[in-house]
Amino acid sequence: MVKYSIVVPAYNEEETLELFYNAATPVFDRLNAPFELIFVNDGSTDKTQEILQRLAKADNRVKVCRFSRNFGQQAALLCGFAESSGEAVIAMDADLQDSPETALKMIEEWQNGYEIVHGKRRTRQGESAFKKRTADLFYKTASKLTGLSIPQNVGDFKLYDRKVVNAILSMPEHDRLLRTQTSWLGFKQTYVEFDRPERVAGKTHYTLKKMCKLAQSGILPNAETGSWFSLKASLLLGVASVACFITFIVLACLGIAFGGLTAWLFTTVGLCSSVILFGQGLSNIKTAMIYREVQNRPNYIVAEKLTFDK
Ligand code: UDP
Ligand code: MG
Repeated sequence: MVKYSIVVPAYNEEETLELFYNAATPVFDRLNAPFELIFVNDGSTDKTQEILQRLAKADNRVKVCRFSRNFGQQAALLCGFAESSGEAVIAMDADLQDSPETALKMIEEWQNGYEIVHGKRRTRQGESAFKKRTADLFYKTASKLTGLSIPQNVGDFKLYDRKVVNAILSMPEHDRLLRTQTSWLGFKQTYVEFDRPERVAGKTHYTLKKMCKLAQSGILPNAETGSWFSLKASLLLGVASVACFITFIVLACLGIAFGGLTAWLFTTVGLCSSVILFGQGLSNIKTAMIYREVQNRPNYIVAEKLTFDK
């Protein structure tokens, strides 16, 4: 029988965990299939661990991992994946912003053959205009710099097929953001739309600083397209400067007055800058290549193998 794993990172979630458990378990019971609830306590300093211990004692479907300190939500998700044994793994927040009903819809899509199912936020309640704006900026910048197609308004609420979980576990990099990793991975992907309510209790753990760190981990390790920027700029500047030089020489030969010394000076600076930018561009591309080697991702991901008997 198919087994499902639900992975829930929890950092100082004493106010939400029981509410989550009481709301989620009856919904997942409707699956009439075995499931496990894996909570990863990400170095909480409140009563999170006590509550999780109590839940695990009362229900053997509850598994708990406690981190030695706060390593962050992405590390907690990775740990949950490594501990999971289900054929489909669903990552969701502990604060009921990711609804268990939507998770059931994701399971339907997985049964239809999709290997990654994203939870796409139709509306986002309780989030400041600033957070929405910066999130929007993140998706746009990330797609431009990485060259990956990163779905908009999608967070970490997702369903992953076992194959995808294994592929993620085969990526040994430290700076990681599942949102960009899943775009890099490929597989058959779809999404389920949902209205994201406010947190059921407590408050967000994402400060501006943490959000910037997340954006850095998501964008820079994949920013190969961005690394071409200096080289492209250098070529543009170089071509423009050479065109100016040629124009000036022609004008001088024809005895037509133009910008004089200042124009020559500007064009020379443009040409020199383009040479410097060219070197910088090559160096950026080389750095991105070195990063890719150090990152040590697999060269390819096999989604399916077919053998045909003659
Ligand atoms: N979380 C975590 N470690 C952290 C920050 C957050 O495990 O360092 C968990 C948190 O307990 C929650 C989920 O990640 O289950 C999302 O966090 P939060 O709700 O604070 O983020 P938001 O929904 O406001 O973006
Ligand atoms: Mg939340």
